[in-house]
Amino acid sequence: MARDLSPKCKKCRREGKKLFLKGDRCFGISCAMIKRPYAPGQHGQSRRMGLSEYGTQLREKQKVKRTYGILEKQFKKYYEMASGMKGNTGKLLPTFLERRMDNVVYRLGMAASRNQARQLVNHGHFLVNGKKVDISSYLIKEGDIISFKSDKGEHIENIKNTIKNHQTPSWLSIDIQKLQGKVVSMPIIDEIETIADIHLIIEYYSKS
Ligand code: SF4
Repeated sequence: MARDLSPKCKKCRREGKKLFLKGDRCFGISCAMIKRPYAPGQHGQSRRMGLSEYGTQLREKQKVKRTYGILEKQFKKYYEMASGMKGNTGKLLPTFLERRMDNVVYRLGMAASRNQARQLVNHGHFLVNGKKVDISSYLIKEGDIISFKSDKGEHIENIKNTIKNHQTPSWLSIDIQKLQGKVVSMPIIDEIETIADIHLIIEYYSKS
């Protein structure tokens, strides 16, 4: 039987967890984690054995990196920024991830997935406080206003529909008519969904 498994779905299967990388599809029955909830590859169904401590920490880190779609260098930079600040590194690290421009666009409901948000940002569709920002890793601040800009009516309607089906976290607000979001406060740790055990990730980096 022909199988259409994109690399994104393989990432979820590799981690044994839905990472919600494909927008609406992730909520339907065609999600690969429903159809094939085991690791990809010939031995995927028999492979998931007990992991070493290092292996467990590594997998937790990979889950987060894959969910936010970032590379190792960038992720380590966030860890270094968080660990260099006063406070709990385990709580600070997720806030850096949440403050990324592509994540904020996704959290505002202006894109169905972080991947789509990244594409929209990279194509220059967003302004922050009236200035174009086309860097998906740009870190938003409290009070920032994020606006969507497009000449295409179809594009605008698609985004409005995506917003309507989305739950915006309390640290953000959205004006659907203006297609404008506001960062009401810094990300609230209790509202950041638990993707992985952040403390295992901190242990991973603190040993390396
Ligand atoms: Fe694919 Fe989304 Fe399901 Fe992950 S959650 S396997 S990206 S459809």
